[in-house]
Amino acid sequence: MKGRYILDSAALFKIGIVDPELAYTTQENVDEVIVEYEKALVLKYIREGRLIIKEPDDDHYKKALKVADPKLSSADIKTLALAVEINEKDNVPVVTDDYSLQNALSRLGIRFMPLKTNGIRKTYKWTYRCEWCGSYFHDELKECPKCGGPIRRVVFPVKHRK
Ligand SMILES: [Zn+2]
Repeated sequence: MKGRYILDSAALFKIGIVDPELAYTTQENVDEVIVEYEKALVLKYIREGRLIIKEPDDDHYKKALKVADPKLSSADIKTLALAVEINEKDNVPVVTDDYSLQNALSRLGIRFMPLKTNGIRKTYKWTYRCEWCGSYFHDELKECPKCGGPIRRVVFPVKHRK
């Protein structure tokens, strides 16, 4: 898979399928990989310089904590913090199937890609839409300013940039 990615622990378990050109993850995610075959593959990628272990700093960790819901593990929050840090200067999507993590990323405007066993082809973006009048908004509002209706997040696939 061409391109650079940030990987959560579940994406690390399938790093052979993700096959990144260059990927970033945290030590805690690497520690979660305990199956021997997968661990060996992860260590091989680290040796080859295709997988970079990077820890988020405290400021970004605090920023991640603010948007994280209680379902997120500390490993997920660190992944989120790493994504915040990297995406301040760069545009690197996070590969994750974790809905809570995806939701937190979308709140921060960071791209994510679900991991499917048949390979990753799509990137997702999102917008917010009023359920009553159908107006679209960039921000997640409590209610529609036009009609007071409930706002829902709408996720849609976009073509992956090469
Ligand atoms: Zn409305």
